[in-house]
Amino acid sequence: MTTREYFLPRSLDEAVGLLAEHGPSLLVMSGGTLAMPLINEGVSMPEMVMGLRRAGLSYLERVNGSLIVGAATTLSQVVGFEAIPVLQEAAYNIGGWAIRNMGTVGGNLFAPPPGGDFAVALLALDAQLKLVSARGERTLPLAEFYTGFMTTALEPDELVAEIRVPVPAGRTAYLKYGRRHTNTPAVVTVAAHLVLNGKKVEDARLALNAVGPHPIRATQAEALLTGSTLDEETIAAAAAAAAEECEPFTDPIASAWYRRRMVNVFVRRALSQIAQ
Ligand SMILES: Cc1cc2nc3c(=O)[nH]c(=O)nc-3n(C[C@H](O)[C@H](O)[C@H](O)COP(=O)(O)OP(=O)(O)OC[C@H]3O[C@@H](n4cnc5c(N)ncnc54)[C@H](O)[C@@H]3O)c2cc1C
Repeated sequence: MTTREYFLPRSLDEAVGLLAEHGPSLLVMSGGTLAMPLINEGVSMPEMVMGLRRAGLSYLERVNGSLIVGAATTLSQVVGFEAIPVLQEAAYNIGGWAIRNMGTVGGNLFAPPPGGDFAVALLALDAQLKLVSARGERTLPLAEFYTGFMTTALEPDELVAEIRVPVPAGRTAYLKYGRRHTNTPAVVTVAAHLVLNGKKVEDARLALNAVGPHPIRATQAEALLTGSTLDEETIAAAAAAAAEECEPFTDPIASAWYRRRMVNVFVRRALSQIAQ
């Protein structure tokens, strides 16, 4: 079957209306960097496609201590926006310029592993998603969005419209490790956000990508960090806990064994960076 119709809605209302009308036979496409190769290779053969480019979902705004990001905002737009440096770094670490110019923040939430290098930073920053359908809207923490490998809590008639990111109250670190320096899939990506009082950790969020079915929080490592003094011993223990609790996989880029070892190394480096 070939694609019969292409819709280019001019507003979010129009987009969710089309989704309500056509249901799952309508493929949502934002930047298309994931969706188009699948169509070109015949893996995905949607009857209808809806592009989000003109739906008014491309914006970055600072509002009352949060950054509001429209779901169709490109990664290049994020690189050029200075509100939250760790997000600029995460966006810059995805693909090359061509991918960043097309690929969007919303689309990255759906990237199968080892993709998700922007989503992992959003997870460490405790981002909230605004999900919209013709029935109304709801807010969901990103931590509750993923339900399994390539499955999410998004209902079939919903779109991710917007992402709200609290401006970090603490220190952050973002490290992506791949086989090359740039334009490389992740062996592991680590995003950390720690609120410190002197050397004492008051709050910790540690997120990992490419070592699970989707970007994950290392909750045991977080629990170990919270209330501890951020010294070498704590950092080593948290890195070991993160390596233990992640769920690495083997693919052409790295073995599960190697990924687990690199979680230990890169969590240690990320936390040491914050401790400096
Ligand atoms: C060469 C290459 C290199 C890459 N490198 C990286 C990398 O280093 N790191 C990384 O994380 N990713 C990488 N990617 C994957 C991808 O480009 C990015 O994850 C990008 O952010 C995807 O966004 P998109 O807008 O192009 O997604 P699209 O292809 O438009 O959409 C992807 C999926 O998300 C759904 N979707 C998109 N937006 C919405 C929305 N608002 N609401 C509901 N559903 C939606 C679509 O239905 C589709 O199923 C790479 C891809 C390529 C081709």
